[in-house]
Amino acid sequence: MIDGHTRLYGLLGMPVGHSLSPALHNAAFSHFGINACYVPLPVAPSDISAAISAIKAFGFGGVNVTVPHKTTVIPFLDEIRGDAAALGAVNVISVEDGRLIGHNTDSTGFRRMIETHPVDFAGKPVAIIGAGGAAPAIVSAAAALGASDIVIVNRTLEKAQALIPLAQGVKNTTAISLSSQSVDSFIKNSIIIINATSLGLHSVDPLPVPVHLLTARHTVIDLIYKPPETPLLQAAGKRGAAIINGYGMLVYQALESFKIWTGLTPPASIMWDAGLGAFPD
Ligand code: NDP
Repeated sequence: MIDGHTRLYGLLGMPVGHSLSPALHNAAFSHFGINACYVPLPVAPSDISAAISAIKAFGFGGVNVTVPHKTTVIPFLDEIRGDAAALGAVNVISVEDGRLIGHNTDSTGFRRMIETHPVDFAGKPVAIIGAGGAAPAIVSAAAALGASDIVIVNRTLEKAQALIPLAQGVKNTTAISLSSQSVDSFIKNSIIIINATSLGLHSVDPLPVPVHLLTARHTVIDLIYKPPETPLLQAAGKRGAAIINGYGMLVYQALESFKIWTGLTPPASIMWDAGLGAFPD
C-alpha cells in the first residue's frame, strides 16, 4: 500500500519500460513488509544532472542506474565505493546522511550467477564479446574467477583495448576487433564464450559469434535474458554447447543492490520468481 510514508526507489535509465527490476525489488519490499516502492525513472542524457539532484530532493532511498547513464552519473556523486571505482561504472546509488554513494553490483551479480550454475572458469580461456557498459564487470569477474586467458572482442577495438587492465592476474589478455580474421581461432580455442553485446535484443540482429565453430566443449553465456533462449543460445545449444542466459545476473545484482539500500538479504527465489512472473508472454 502506498501512503504518506512510502519511501521511493527506482531505475534511472533510457529506456526503462522493458525492465524487470520494479518487479524484483517490489517483491522484496513486500516480503519484508517495508513501506517502499520501486518505480521506473526514464531520464534522457540531457536531464541526468537534474535527475540526480531530484534523488535527494524527493528523499529517494536509492536508485539503480542503467544504460546510458552508468558512467555519466559519476561526476554528480559524493563518493564512489568498491567495484564501481575500478570499473568506472555505477549501477547503484545509495543515499547515506544526505550523500550520494555510487556502487557497482554487476560484477558480483555475474559471479554469483556463475557460482550458482556452476561454471568453472579456473584455468580456462574465455572470450568476451562486447566492450560497452556491462563488459568491464564481466572482464573483472572472469579474471577474479581464475580465467587463464581472456580475449575481448568488440566492433570498436579501442573500447576493447581499454578493458585490458581490468583482467588482473590473467596470464594473457588480448583485444581484437569483431571484424578481425583471428576471431575464429580465438573462438575455437576458448572454452567459455560470453556475449556482452546488445546483439540479440532484436530479432534482425546478426549472431555475435561464428556459431558454426561451437562444439560440446564450449559453454556459451548470453547476458541477454529475453527471450530466455536467445538466438545465440539456441544456435549454440543445437551444436551441443552448454548454455546460460543472463537472468541470474539480473537477479543477483538486484539482490546486492537491495542489500546496500536496506541491509537485508531477501531469499533469491523471491526476486527470481517475481521477475519470471513479469516476463512478457
Ligand atoms: P552498451 O550499449 O553499453 O554496449 C553495447 C555493446 O554491443 C558494445 O560492445 C557495442 O559495440 C556492441 N554492439 C552494439 N551493436 C552492435 C552491432 N550492430 N554490431 C556489433 N556490436 C554491436 O550495452 P551494455 O554493455 O550495457 O549491455 C550489453 C548487453 O548486456 C545488453 O544486451 C544488455 O541487455 C545486457 N545486460 C544484461 C545484464 C544482466 O543483468 N543480465 C546487465 C547489463 C547488461 P561498440 O562498442 O562497437 O559500440
